[in-house]
Amino acid sequence: MSQLRDAATTDDPKAIAGCEVPETFRAAVTLAEEQRALAGTPVDQRDPRKTVHVQEVPTPALEHGEVLIAVMASSINYNTVWSALFEPVPTFRFLRTLGRLSPEGARHDLPYHVLGSDLSGVVLRTGPGVREWKPGDEVVVHCLQPDLQTPGGHDDTLLDPGQRVWGYETNFGGLAEISLVKANQLMPKPAHLTWEEAACLGVCLSTAYRQLVSHHGANMKQGERVLIWGAAGGLGAFVTQLAVNGGAIPICVVSSAAKAELCRRMGAEFVIDRSADNYTFWDDQNRPRLGEWGRFRSAIRNLVGDDPDIVIEHPGRDTFGVSVMVVARGGRVVTCASTTGYEHTYDNRFLWMHVKRIIGSHMANYREAWAANDLVVRGNVHPVLSRTYPLDATGDATHDVSRNLHHGKVGVLCLAGQTGMGVRDHELRARKLDQINLFQAG
Ligand code: NAP
Repeated sequence: MSQLRDAATTDDPKAIAGCEVPETFRAAVTLAEEQRALAGTPVDQRDPRKTVHVQEVPTPALEHGEVLIAVMASSINYNTVWSALFEPVPTFRFLRTLGRLSPEGARHDLPYHVLGSDLSGVVLRTGPGVREWKPGDEVVVHCLQPDLQTPGGHDDTLLDPGQRVWGYETNFGGLAEISLVKANQLMPKPAHLTWEEAACLGVCLSTAYRQLVSHHGANMKQGERVLIWGAAGGLGAFVTQLAVNGGAIPICVVSSAAKAELCRRMGAEFVIDRSADNYTFWDDQNRPRLGEWGRFRSAIRNLVGDDPDIVIEHPGRDTFGVSVMVVARGGRVVTCASTTGYEHTYDNRFLWMHVKRIIGSHMANYREAWAANDLVVRGNVHPVLSRTYPLDATGDATHDVSRNLHHGKVGVLCLAGQTGMGVRDHELRARKLDQINLFQAG
């Protein structure tokens, strides 16, 4: 392993790809024994700083169509929070299911789970049958692993019943020195970004793209008004940029003046600070406070003169009813999550009488992910990274996201010894540096 760590310090992809594949590597893991021990502990008393461990694990064998990546950097997604809390389902359950499918799947069913659904790094080895990528290529990873052994997913891989989220529903994720992915997850690393910047694109950017831009999501048009909850968060910061880039009008909802300022730096004119304006959408007996829902709708109308055509939903229970109410007649609410609770309450009269639509959205297919990544490659959309931790502090990084202490994304350095490595296209970076720096400033 020390050979690979030494090569990583040179930041030279050829030197990295020329290394022996080590027998073991360091990885951020959760442990099946701790999941069992915490079974009776309420979720709000669980802490990622105690359940995420960094330890040495054996390198998995490489099978047909697979690639081993020397991981330079990774980032925290909310699914890492779910894995670390063993909620809403312990991810060891996914690994057991995968393990029963085939001998290849059985490699994943282990008493530890290597977490992480994002990375940037260098192709270390390719397995049999891999044609499009070679050792030394600098890559980022799309998190969806399709299976496609039944007809269901052949129009859109999100409809594939055998699809899996790498690093959440599989083992050997990106929060590690080495990761195991399928070749059809790989995308080119934007050459003007550092390793840690590039590692915060995949999951949130591709999900934002499908939710807002794709015909599978809102199919946004120029001039449309887009209400974005959590507009300075991991997902929301990309939605905000995609809206601006596509000629739409973002209406950003955030909970602090600093986040409001970040939205303005990303080009948003209209921002609502839900904390400063003290919106309380539910009473203490969990009944909707309809006056507050109406106050929020009036605030939007006062700001932009009309109702939003699109609402980008992910907080879930706390906001969903409001989203259905405030979206314009004929508008669409596109939801990809339920961070505050899965059971949503909304007044259905707003939906059917005003012919609104609710659209479910999840991650992205490879084509959508590639299109989104390409916007970053060309310098139209930028990473928003609030802080970067070393691999040993992955639990702290996960804690930040679980407690909403960040904006944008939280990065993790894996083989990269320091921040700032990995930039190849200095000319494009110089042209975009003002925006990159502006978006990352706290
Ligand atoms: P994040 O970085 O933590 O951002 C979420 C934002 O939501 C926060 O910044 C916060 O913004 C806002 N928020 C939290 N509680 C809220 C509430 N009660 N009311 C209104 N806003 C609230 O997380 P993320 O990475 O953006 O992910 C957001 C959700 O999407 C997570 O549940 C994640 O699992 C999910 N997700 C799903 C997919 C998918 O493919 N289905 C992909 C990516 C993410 P303010 O405090 O500033 O308002």
